[in-house]
Amino acid sequence: MKPDTDVALEEVALELEDLVMHFGSVRAVDGVSLSIRKGQVTALVGESGSGKSTVGRCIVRLLEPTAGVVRIGGVDVTHLSRRQMRRHGKEVSIVFQDPAGSLDPRMLVGDVVGEPLRLQAGRISRRDREERINEELGRVGLRAEVARRYPHELSGGQRQRVSIARALISSPSLLIADEPTSALDVSVQASVLNLLADLQRDIGFACLFITHDLSAVEYLADDVAVMYLGQLVEKGSRERVFARPAHPYTQALLAAAPVADPPRQRARKAVLLGDDLPSALDPPSGCRFHTRCPLAFDRCTAEVPQLLGIGDGDAACHLVGPDGAGPDVRQTNSAGSLQ
Ligand code: SF4
Repeated sequence: MKPDTDVALEEVALELEDLVMHFGSVRAVDGVSLSIRKGQVTALVGESGSGKSTVGRCIVRLLEPTAGVVRIGGVDVTHLSRRQMRRHGKEVSIVFQDPAGSLDPRMLVGDVVGEPLRLQAGRISRRDREERINEELGRVGLRAEVARRYPHELSGGQRQRVSIARALISSPSLLIADEPTSALDVSVQASVLNLLADLQRDIGFACLFITHDLSAVEYLADDVAVMYLGQLVEKGSRERVFARPAHPYTQALLAAAPVADPPRQRARKAVLLGDDLPSALDPPSGCRFHTRCPLAFDRCTAEVPQLLGIGDGDAACHLVGPDGAGPDVRQTNSAGSLQ
C-alpha cells in the first residue's frame, strides 16, 4: 500500500481523513485515515468492538461522523445526503453481515433488488427494470424466478446473494462489504466470498472489506488495514502484512487465524491476546494495546505511538523501526517474554 499522501487524486476511490465517530463518551472511531485506489480491495480488520463497522456506516452516510472528511472519487461527501451523492455520481453500496435483517421481508426479491434503480436519476421502463433485475440475479448465481419469491423462502446464502445483487445494481464505484459471510453457515461462506471476489475482478469496483478474520482476506484483498479500539495500528499490502506483520496486534491476530489443530489454536490465541478488548468508553492511556501486549514497557502506557511509514505501509508501535523491523509476539512464551 502506498502512503495515503502519495496516491494521485484521480486514482483514489475512497479517502478518509482523520475520521472520528463518538457516541456520547464512547470513542468508537478516533482519527482514522485511509485511502483505497480505484478497483482495489482493502480489508479493514479487527475484533468486534474495534470500530470497523462504524467506519463503514460513516462512509455510506448511515452515520454522521463527529469529525473528519470522507471523499469518494475526490469529492468531499462528508455532509452530502445519499441522494446528493448520487447526483454527483458518487454511488456507494453496502452489504451487511445479516441478510435476514437487511432485506425487507414484505418485499418480493425482485423489488428488493430493483429498489436502488427507483432512487437513481432518470426514469427507467418497467421492462428495462425487469431485465436489469434478472441480469443482476444471474450475475450472483440466482435464477430469474427467485425474483417472485420472498426473502424468507430463500436460504441464508441465497439471501446474501440477493443483498449483493441489490448493492451492485446501481453500479457503485465503491462497495462496503461488512462481514458479508460471518452470519452464514460455514459451508456457504467460501462460495459467497468467491462470488464477491469474482464480481470485484470482473466489474472492477473498489471495495472496503470489513472482517474480524484475517484468514478470510488472504485471497480477496490487495491491502490490509488493522484497527484496534477505534484507531488504525497497521496498514500495508496484503503480501507484506501476511509475510511480515509489523505491529504486535497484527501478529497476534494472524496467530489466532484458524490452524489445523484446534487446541493448539485456542492456546495460542489465549497467550497472545489474553483479556477481552478494553472499553472504548475509557480507552487505555498511551498505546491502546498496552493492556494486552506481551511486549509492553513503560513508554507504552505514557506515550501514544504514531502511525509512521515503514517502507511498505504504516505501523503504530514504539518497537517498530522505520524499515518495519521489530520483535514478533508470536515468538513469546506464556510469561510474555521473547523466546
Ligand atoms: Fe506493544 Fe508498546 Fe508496541 Fe503498543 S507500543 S504495540 S504496547 S510494544
